[in-house]
Amino acid sequence: MPAPAARPIRTLREFTATDGVGTRLRGMARSAAIWALSAGRSPLRSNGWVRFPYYHHVFDDERAGFERQLRYFKNVADIIGIDDAVSMISSGRSSPGRYICITFDDGFKNWIENAVPILVDAGATAAFFVAAGYIGSSPERDRDRLVEFYEDGNRLMEFLSWQDCQRMQDAGMSIGSHSVNHVHLLNLDDDAAAAELALSKQMIEQNTGQPCRHFCCPFGRAGIDYDPSRHPGMAKAAGYSSFLTGHRGANRAGASAFDIRRDHLLANWGDHQLRYFLGAPN
Ligand SMILES: [Zn+2]
Repeated sequence: MPAPAARPIRTLREFTATDGVGTRLRGMARSAAIWALSAGRSPLRSNGWVRFPYYHHVFDDERAGFERQLRYFKNVADIIGIDDAVSMISSGRSSPGRYICITFDDGFKNWIENAVPILVDAGATAAFFVAAGYIGSSPERDRDRLVEFYEDGNRLMEFLSWQDCQRMQDAGMSIGSHSVNHVHLLNLDDDAAAAELALSKQMIEQNTGQPCRHFCCPFGRAGIDYDPSRHPGMAKAAGYSSFLTGHRGANRAGASAFDIRRDHLLANWGDHQLRYFLGAPN
């Protein structure tokens, strides 16, 4: 096993340094295919939807890309907060507009260092889903646990403090739950899954002083990471207003707020990738 990184990762270049040649080649081939397929797509071709782009990080070398993507979003849609987005979906009243609710998963320090200042400059808001058990960890003290956040076990990421979460809320951002331990709910029995839902909500509310209304499922694939017949209902019973997944697509009024689709993006992706994913017909 490779030695853990000496200090927390600050750039996408460092983050992908351990990717094998195969991973890089597949990425390049995929990007070329998307370039060709994006020609006929545009988010402007339809309306009456809310889309939830989701990111994990905005590293130091992704800031310019994230700024460009925010400009793209503003050109094709209205950027709205998660409370409004969820109300719109659950109200069942269709609206002719195009809406984007930006989301982030996991809880990394680069959110407050890079993403939040760019969002504030753009006059935009976003929802940030934290794995509550990692908030306030220290890259030095908790190194062994932190390097295991990723399954390959050799990427050290720095997480936010609770004070960072409060400052993000003060800047107009929302903090939601992404469980306590970043778990596959499907691997847990019902009591343990319910505890992940309830305890993360409680930790976030106690440490930020704000209600935590939204749950974003770690890994997010129905039938693989969570059971759609059990876990969204458990989130509702725990007091959440929504359950966000990792499945791509647009959300329309009248859809379930407990089965929200999202589009995973990397902050350095070009407009052709945004056209392809946000303009997908469905
Ligand atoms: Zn996650």
